[in-house]
Amino acid sequence: MNTKIANNGDTALTFQKETVTAKIIAPSGEAVERNIEIRTNPITRRTSRIAFSRIAQSETGIEVIPPPPPDAEETSSCPFCRPQVMSKTPQFPPEFAPSGRLARGDSILFPNLFPYGSYSAVSLIDNNHFVEIGTASLSSYVNSFLNCDEYLRQVLAGDSQAIYMSITQNHLPSAGGSLLHPHLQVHADKVAANNHRFLQERATRYFAETRSYLFSDYLRYEKKDVARYIGQTGSW
Ligand SMILES: [Zn+2]
Repeated sequence: MNTKIANNGDTALTFQKETVTAKIIAPSGEAVERNIEIRTNPITRRTSRIAFSRIAQSETGIEVIPPPPPDAEETSSCPFCRPQVMSKTPQFPPEFAPSGRLARGDSILFPNLFPYGSYSAVSLIDNNHFVEIGTASLSSYVNSFLNCDEYLRQVLAGDSQAIYMSITQNHLPSAGGSLLHPHLQVHADKVAANNHRFLQERATRYFAETRSYLFSDYLRYEKKDVARYIGQTGSW
């Protein structure tokens, strides 16, 4: 399939997918063909490969969750566990947050001790030191995200140039999380990170050549196409 919804050379929002075939002799001696679908992301032009035959492959580690990491019980040495979180983590100046940290429910947010940019904070999910994948409560994430929202709004109110924002998470050491205790990383800066800069350049080029907005066109296409559209919540 190859669908273009703006026909302006390099800037076109192109939806492509093509299938390639691998021919192999299976261990049984039978000659078989395996199809691989290659899809191109219309925004980034990056490709992903859907290897259908892997559906049938059994791999270790996909049926059961691996055992907890060794420090899953080490709450006394964790700087994010209570009560030491209040003495081992940094605080905001009083003019930013009178109590030093932002709190909502069991979630608290404070500056990152090792900042990555002008505004860099950590938002704890709640008081649980180890949360197994798939078991976090909805309310804990809601509170943590609302805390991030409040932080980023306050940052922007004080520095109108800090428009490049991100909220990210590395949960557990296997995902590169340096501390086991579940937390979000929140950033804002006047200097764009790679992905923000790439998307900004792409959107600017698209507008210059089509006089149309890249993400609005993309959303319009997805809503009409339905295949990947999940639904709407408020303005999202
Ligand atoms: Zn902890």
